[in-house]
Amino acid sequence: MSELSTSRQWRGVIREYADRLDVTESTPVVTLGEGGTPLIEAHPLSERTGARVWIKVEGMNPTGSFKDRGMTMAVTKAVERGAKVVVCASTGNTSASAAAYATRAGITAAVLVPEGKIAIGKLSQAIAHNARLLQVQGNFDDCLDIARELAANYPVHLVNSVNNDRIEGQKTAAFEVVEVLGDAPDYHLLPLGNAGNYTAYHRGYREEITRNAATRLPRMFGFQAEGSAPIVRGHVVTDPETIASAIRIGNPASWELALVARDDSDGYFGMFSDAKILEAHRILSADVGIFVEPASAIGVAGLLERAEAGMIPKGSTVVITVTGHGLKDPQWAVRRPDGSDVTPTVVPVDAAEVAEALGLGAAAAGGSASAGPSSGGTDPASPA
Ligand SMILES: *Cc1c(COP(=O)(O)O)cnc(C)c1O
Repeated sequence: MSELSTSRQWRGVIREYADRLDVTESTPVVTLGEGGTPLIEAHPLSERTGARVWIKVEGMNPTGSFKDRGMTMAVTKAVERGAKVVVCASTGNTSASAAAYATRAGITAAVLVPEGKIAIGKLSQAIAHNARLLQVQGNFDDCLDIARELAANYPVHLVNSVNNDRIEGQKTAAFEVVEVLGDAPDYHLLPLGNAGNYTAYHRGYREEITRNAATRLPRMFGFQAEGSAPIVRGHVVTDPETIASAIRIGNPASWELALVARDDSDGYFGMFSDAKILEAHRILSADVGIFVEPASAIGVAGLLERAEAGMIPKGSTVVITVTGHGLKDPQWAVRRPDGSDVTPTVVPVDAAEVAEALGLGAAAAGGSASAGPSSGGTDPASPA
């Protein structure tokens, strides 16, 4: 790859994959070091399913979601074409990413979000990065309609995933997976919102086959929330609802492309209730050690359901993309399935009482307790 391959810093997806993206020596690259995210083997999920399960942790991108891969390309190309303002509709993460990359480029991001429907972590990012942020009295699909109209009639560049530069940047995640595994996996599972990411992985894997870096196309499984499942149901959902706000989309922009990718990959689309999504969210955080926002967990729900149904043979290699960081929308981590919130136990300033509350048993003779937790210990903060 590079002359400094043992000890250099990752340079962001455009510079890392310059030969496979539409850029030249004179392209003004706008990067925050996105991409190069970890692919982590999830042993608890491998044990549960008999497959070999890997998690592509896209929350490790600069603004905490995979959107940065596409945004580095979209803003770079917009600047190359002379843009001073970029516009996007967003369920949250696109706005956070557009705002950060526009700031990096020294231009303005205009952001349209559905009123009252954006997780606070994401809203705070767009505000912090100085976006011109408007809450539209409608849903995401309304926001996208307006953003398209603005781009058609005013001097602003659209950076939603209907912009092909976004898909081009996002395809690099498939390159990284192939680089780590030495081939494409047998299955790739991920959430479906506008289906841009699903389309991007498909394109990335196809390109890996073309250049003989991969021998196969993974079967691509995409998942929607039950209250927001237009592709699964086969019709537009006019009032999409789910706690998984990143996939609360009723009329996906890349719907047709997703169908092509599914058919080409012998793929599958499924849907899950919010309760199932939150169950998968808990498994990821409490069993695997990866904290994601709710939408990101749906691939794990898909894995467990498909494996149970016998649709993922034992020994298969499975990659699940978890799309955004848990700190984006953390309230779900402290909520129990019954809807109540976990409140950590309050203790006095007293080591014996703290030890008691932690279930550590009696202190060792002579003072400081160094024994591990006793087996009888219960964790009062556990949301189980
Ligand atoms: C945008 C987003 C999605 C949906 O991706 P699409 O490309 O719209 O299908 C899923 N999860 C998170 C965290 C996102 O930000």
